[in-house]
Amino acid sequence: MRIQDKLLQVGSAIRSTIFSSRKVRVVSASALGLTFIAFGAAGVAPLPDAADLPVTRKVEELALPDLATQIATLGKPAQPFVSEERVRPGDSLADLLDRLGVDDAQATAFIKSDATARGLLHLRPGRRIQASLTADGKLLSATTIFTDGKDQTKKLVVSRNNKGFAAQQVDAVLERRTEMRSGEIHSSLFAATDAAQVPDAVASQIVEMFSADIDFASDLRRGDRFNVVYETLWQDGEYVRSGRVLAAEFRNAGKTRQAVWFVKPGGDQGGYFDPQGKSLKKAFLKSPLQFSRVTSGFSLRIHPISGQWKQHKGIDFAAPIGTPIRAAGDGVVEFAGTQGGYGNVILIQHGSVYSTAYAHMSRMAAGIHRGTRVSQGEVIGYVGTTGWSTGPHLHYEFRVNNDARDPNSIAVPHTQALAGIELQNFRGLANDMNHRFALLTPGQLQVASR
Ligand SMILES: [Zn+2]
Repeated sequence: MRIQDKLLQVGSAIRSTIFSSRKVRVVSASALGLTFIAFGAAGVAPLPDAADLPVTRKVEELALPDLATQIATLGKPAQPFVSEERVRPGDSLADLLDRLGVDDAQATAFIKSDATARGLLHLRPGRRIQASLTADGKLLSATTIFTDGKDQTKKLVVSRNNKGFAAQQVDAVLERRTEMRSGEIHSSLFAATDAAQVPDAVASQIVEMFSADIDFASDLRRGDRFNVVYETLWQDGEYVRSGRVLAAEFRNAGKTRQAVWFVKPGGDQGGYFDPQGKSLKKAFLKSPLQFSRVTSGFSLRIHPISGQWKQHKGIDFAAPIGTPIRAAGDGVVEFAGTQGGYGNVILIQHGSVYSTAYAHMSRMAAGIHRGTRVSQGEVIGYVGTTGWSTGPHLHYEFRVNNDARDPNSIAVPHTQALAGIELQNFRGLANDMNHRFALLTPGQLQVASR
């Protein structure tokens, strides 16, 4: 049954391959009395060479439909079959090999025992795997492309040799393409990015790049819009994954913000800059809560009751227990422990003037103690309801010279700005991206980028 399926696949592959040659010539040959088909035209690669396929009757000129019909009813061709499958959730190695048409105990044993080949056991659902096999299901080779823990794209090949099998992992050479997408917020950011077919990894980058200015959990409004230009990475015409966001534009509450990725000449680290060349990275994040698809439907800012600011001295963010809390800025942990009504609380000192406090945590992140140096965005603990708290939330305080202040009332300085030749180079790039945004939103007023 399986072999017949494969024959149909091979038959259709051949049909499409030789369609351009229009006619095939059938010549009789060999002492066995078999008849072979040969092509009048070249360019038959890569699937089975039809010259090796026996046919059952002799004709001088054979029309294509006849050939296709015959191939579908033929015996075993000598050329390898090629099959491709995607990993499904909960797949075992046996499930995957079965779907690929592999029936090979030796290959299975090798994949389970070889340190490199075992990579095939840990593929994420959705990954493609190609197999080349003999007519009776013996594996000749299996190939897959995947992304390792360091975000490097690798190619893993298991192939048969004269001693059995060998496995090797090499860097995959990927082709970069640029995608442009546009969307409007109706219910949530992720609903909008899904509707625009923007991958989650790209949606998360958009959140990160604007996180000093927009709290995506509480600032979004119906009708907010985004445009995004990002890289996608391809291998042999197959999509592998999304890459970096090159530029994005976000219109929130009537204000449009733009960000363009820029690497300074001779520098190895890039960053996002606004059209005037100012870094989007600021000393403090707008919200210390990590925004994700999971928390996007839950997180709400609880505004202190009017006139209560002096007593309350902080901003409360409602969020599910366990939501990661991030350091709002670079700094040093001044206190990490339990303190009265604050419950589990962390105090971070940022330079000599600013400090931030994070209260009611369920627990601290591993390695966070007094004296720990933390960087902006680093997870320091998790939302809880310890201390004087009526429900799961983060109580966040922003202090200037130990005096609690509303962080939204403080003008937080940009961390860096481009100047001179760098600014000139950047403006050329920013203008190009601005032009792309204009194409994405016809009829919309463009933001001047001077
Ligand atoms: Zn509070």
